[in-house]
Amino acid sequence: MADYDVIVVGGGISGLLSALTVSRHGKKVLVLEKDSVVGGNCNSYNVDGFQVDTGVHAITHLREGPLRRLMDEYFTYLPVFLNHGDYHVRTEKGLTKMPSNIKEFVTFDILPRKDRFLLSQALTKALTQVTFGMLEGNQPVYDHLPGGLSMDTYDFVDAISYSLSGKSMKETSINRILYGGSFVRDSISEGIFEDDQQENTSYTSKITDTLSRYQLKSHISTISRLATNKIAYAQGYPRGGLKSLLSAVLYSMPKTVQIKTSSRVKKIISEEGKVTGVATDSGVIRAGTVVYSGFVKDLPDLIELPADYKEALSRIDQTLSLTIWLGLSEKIKEFDYMGSEIWFKGGAYWAMPVSNHDPGLAPAGKQLIGFTFIIDNKKNIESEKKRAFELILRAVPGIEKRIEMTHYQVTIPEKAAVTINGFFATSRPPVPNLYLAGTDTDNRSMGITRAAYSVLELLKAMKEDKKL
Ligand SMILES: Cc1cc2nc3c(=O)[nH]c(=O)nc-3n(C[C@H](O)[C@H](O)[C@H](O)COP(=O)(O)OP(=O)(O)OC[C@H]3O[C@@H](n4cnc5c(N)ncnc54)[C@H](O)[C@@H]3O)c2cc1C
Repeated sequence: MADYDVIVVGGGISGLLSALTVSRHGKKVLVLEKDSVVGGNCNSYNVDGFQVDTGVHAITHLREGPLRRLMDEYFTYLPVFLNHGDYHVRTEKGLTKMPSNIKEFVTFDILPRKDRFLLSQALTKALTQVTFGMLEGNQPVYDHLPGGLSMDTYDFVDAISYSLSGKSMKETSINRILYGGSFVRDSISEGIFEDDQQENTSYTSKITDTLSRYQLKSHISTISRLATNKIAYAQGYPRGGLKSLLSAVLYSMPKTVQIKTSSRVKKIISEEGKVTGVATDSGVIRAGTVVYSGFVKDLPDLIELPADYKEALSRIDQTLSLTIWLGLSEKIKEFDYMGSEIWFKGGAYWAMPVSNHDPGLAPAGKQLIGFTFIIDNKKNIESEKKRAFELILRAVPGIEKRIEMTHYQVTIPEKAAVTINGFFATSRPPVPNLYLAGTDTDNRSMGITRAAYSVLELLKAMKEDKKL
């Protein structure tokens, strides 16, 4: 006799969204989280009067994306999202708005004019080829770069690649740039609504014969985005910090969901080839379905799996991130903007003055800024921290006089990085009654948006298997 209909292993945002949605389909659910608090990489906490998040976050696809869909259908409480603002590039000369499209690239004088021209050509070619189905887009960004670019331009493209995939331009695919830069949208996009206004033009009616209506609309809007694209489209930061999103999920949770913290799942139990429950230090708990939302890479330690599946899981690629939170004694002019910034010369960071979005995250009159770096997990972490901190001092001279709180976080930001040869699992592993959710089971988009995609795929798989 099962104790629960569904056990969810892991109480990060993927596990909690899985528990919320599955329970709303009438299931009795238990969430088991190994840490003493739920939230995983989606949380906030206090350090010396400043409220820091678990990494710098901008949440994407908020208008029609997967999280929006889950919020509309399953949440009873909603977080308030504040507009992310603009992306910027910082150099020794100060801040410049990050170009979103070719029009803006023309005046982006951080890079030499010749390089901008060559990059625009390369981007136009790749986007046109992808749009016409003549390029799969799985080739390295580096292979699409023209020769003879300056060192700064290579560093810039590398920094963009790191921010979109967590990997260098040699390991990041061209598709990642096109999707991550919003040139191609991976969920229902605003382009569809814009195109609806042109529905009766002779051009559209002529080619609907050969292309489906959806394809037609997305193809046109993809190409037109070369001139009109906005990389910060529908992106936001939750008022009250990242934990507001976590709280909205927890407040929306029905009473049929029980959450146990400090409960590590040590084994996923299978009998006669089917999953029947899990084992923790407190004993065995039975359920008709187990949803695993920890690292899929770790799955072979928990359950017997076919050799070829285990081999595929070993190809999951990951990166390590370092976030340095600085609490400043006063607001400084260098961070007097809404949005975020990258630095790319001789090292890269992505930074966001989050207290500009919500002043309540810092004590009155003070400022809180998060700087995220990708670090090398083979190097000494302390020397990586030192190198990162020195980069901040170089990028923002004089900031050290205002620092009154410094806090470091070292985390794996995505359970799988979208690299050219990296593997992604799907929601259905080759064991009946076991499902997967999380950022290593869907390669669309990034972070919390990707987690939300994975939960939509989980629901689809469970419905197909008559589990919901
Ligand atoms: C520096 C940084 C910057 C980021 N920037 C962004 C951003 O800008 N936008 C964005 O959308 N996302 C961003 N993210 C990513 C986003 O935070 C994560 O993708 C998301 O929170 C992952 O959720 P998850 O539930 O899939 O995984 P996790 O948060 O890793 O949750 C998994 C949970 O499972 C638990 N667990 C694992 N194994 C077991 C076990 N055996 N038994 C019990 N419990 C177990 C873990 O303790 C953990 O709580 C960023 C992350 C970082 C670190």
